Amino acid sequence: MEQKAEKIQRPIVQALDEILGTPLKVLDDGFVRVIDYMGSDESVVQAARVSYGKGTKKVNEDRGLIRYLLRHAHTTPFEMCEIKLHVRVPMDCWRQWIRHRMANINEYSTRYSLAIDASQKTAPAEWRLQSKDNKQGSEGFADATLGSALTQREQELQDLARAVYNERVERGIAREQARKDLPLSTYTEAYWKVDLHNLLHFLSLRMDDHAQFEIRSYANVIGHEIVRRWCPIVWEAFIDYRLRGSAITRLEIDIIRAIQTGNAEKAREVAVKYGLLPPPGQEIKRNREREDLEAKLALLNIPIPWK
Ligand SMILES: Cc1cc2nc3c(=O)[nH]c(=O)nc-3n(C[C@H](O)[C@H](O)[C@H](O)COP(=O)(O)OP(=O)(O)OC[C@H]3O[C@@H](n4cnc5c(N)ncnc54)[C@H](O)[C@@H]3O)c2cc1C
Repeated sequence: MEQKAEKIQRPIVQALDEILGTPLKVLDDGFVRVIDYMGSDESVVQAARVSYGKGTKKVNEDRGLIRYLLRHAHTTPFEMCEIKLHVRVPMDCWRQWIRHRMANINEYSTRYSLAIDASQKTAPAEWRLQSKDNKQGSEGFADATLGSALTQREQELQDLARAVYNERVERGIAREQARKDLPLSTYTEAYWKVDLHNLLHFLSLRMDDHAQFEIRSYANVIGHEIVRRWCPIVWEAFIDYRLRGSAITRLEIDIIRAIQTGNAEKAREVAVKYGLLPPPGQEIKRNREREDLEAKLALLNIPIPWK
């Protein structure tokens, strides 16, 4: 049967068009800017309705459908939207960024061109101290005297590395080798294209408190400034279910039920049964699963029976 041609309008998102090409500043000299996009909230709905074989529905039903899809991890409709960003990022941060494999990337070549003459600088008040509890994290800041000294040393190091690099290039050394001692603070640039499903995955990991401050800064700009404009209904659902929502595990359900009986002893017994607490009398050591539960109890204003 011959298919009739149907007039189709490309989705245009006015709010995103307004910032197309505008660099949104991140860190001291980085940015993110939108180069192009495909799709909108509507495209997610459209894709879902093709698979469900339903006709056009009203906006409030669209919102309900998007929220349902995200809540129940029906992810493919979100892959119908794509966005292409131009990013300028320090190399150490970029190294974390490109672990996200489900994106298309073209990075500035320091074999082909001179390395970008900019390095991320740390202000005296920005030196973070090593966390005592979390080996991967930081807590608090160095005092002003130490901060100033570290910032000065950073400047000396970056200046020396750049001078050595320039000297090698001037003496005819290939750019691919001359670059080898440039610090990880050196900025790189890339085009990063990703679909909305994988972008939300990136944001859920990189906007999280566990992510390093630098990449979190980029993720916050991409989320709050870009995705919020591009797909506001998806963004709202993402905040509700992924970013600010929380899943409760089978163990947690059993422990919370025991807490709700009002019998703290019973709740502790269940926690011991599941290995979240040691048997009575033994020292309580660090346990990540218990800490996750404690965070959820705090969120729900439920007193922690073993504290
Ligand atoms: C706080 C934090 C700390 C980290 N610490 C470390 C560390 O110490 N060392 C380290 O090496 N990394 C570390 N990482 C990186 C982390 O392990 C992941 O590599 C990174 O977050 C990318 O996540 P992903 O693989 O889920 O996402 P993506 O690569 O974006 O992939 C998205 C999803 O696609 C699917 N997928 C992609 N590729 C495949 C595949 N080949 N096979 C099957 N499914 C696939 C998976 O479902 C995946 O979740 C850390 C990340 C975070 C957020």
